[in-house]
Amino acid sequence: MNDDSFIHLCQPAGGKSCGACCGLYNYADSSRDSLAARIRARTRRFHAAVKGTNDLPSFAAITRECEDQTKRYEVIYCCEYLGFLDQGESRVGCLLHPLQNDGLDMRDVSFYGRELCDGHFCPSYHYLTKEEKLSLIYIIDDWYLYGLCVTDIDLVKEWFRLIASMIYEVPPPERFRRGKLREISSRFFSRKISWPFRSEAANRLGKYYFDGSQYMINHIDYDSLGRERSRFDKIFLSLSSEFKTGSDVDEAEGIIQSDVDEFVAAYKE
Ligand code: SF4
Ligand code: SF4
Repeated sequence: MNDDSFIHLCQPAGGKSCGACCGLYNYADSSRDSLAARIRARTRRFHAAVKGTNDLPSFAAITRECEDQTKRYEVIYCCEYLGFLDQGESRVGCLLHPLQNDGLDMRDVSFYGRELCDGHFCPSYHYLTKEEKLSLIYIIDDWYLYGLCVTDIDLVKEWFRLIASMIYEVPPPERFRRGKLREISSRFFSRKISWPFRSEAANRLGKYYFDGSQYMINHIDYDSLGRERSRFDKIFLSLSSEFKTGSDVDEAEGIIQSDVDEFVAAYKE
């Protein structure tokens, strides 16, 4: 992946980054406040106590002891070396990375090992188009939301598919740098956090749930709600939706449709 068109999704620019594959969202309490407090405390501990590789075992032991280790999915590792990379706490990332330690790479001690940590590219690298990647990077300026969205391929693809089908073209990423199109898209993606029909079940993350032994893909039982499968089904699953009545589905469709309609109107202005 060494060509000029390569877009680094993990650490794309100031103000956002992702730590999802380091287990960031796998704590039972993965709310923003809880994760921020956890990461803030361990980052401070790291900078105060770690001067070299020899200090890492005690840092890891104390961190595991101090933090609530209850996980969403037991089989996914939550790495204790994920921290904030900047003073402003706008980017999460690896505290063992050489760029954080004057060139010293300490990732050999990690659960996955240096090679995996260094060479892992999640499916979003392969499945999102260049336009989708760039647009998303321009739209979201928030580490917590960015990591949730960049790893949700369905959510990203569905948004850009829906709007492209209405404006008959793929909007150039540049148009998402500022202004109304960015604002509307940002509101759409922030529904990942603020969606009123979001299930609070700890074993749910986007379209997946864990049944105790394996990941399963969730389905919405439209029949029992007296509705046809929604045209926004993939989005609803990505938003961990749990509908109690058919009217819930109607309302949810109205919300997404108005995001799309508003975008289309603003695009034509
Ligand atoms: S989940 Fe993907 S984008 Fe996020 S840190 Fe891992 S490889 Fe990077
Ligand atoms: S050691 Fe590996 S898993 Fe842990 S934070 Fe660093 S990159 Fe992520």
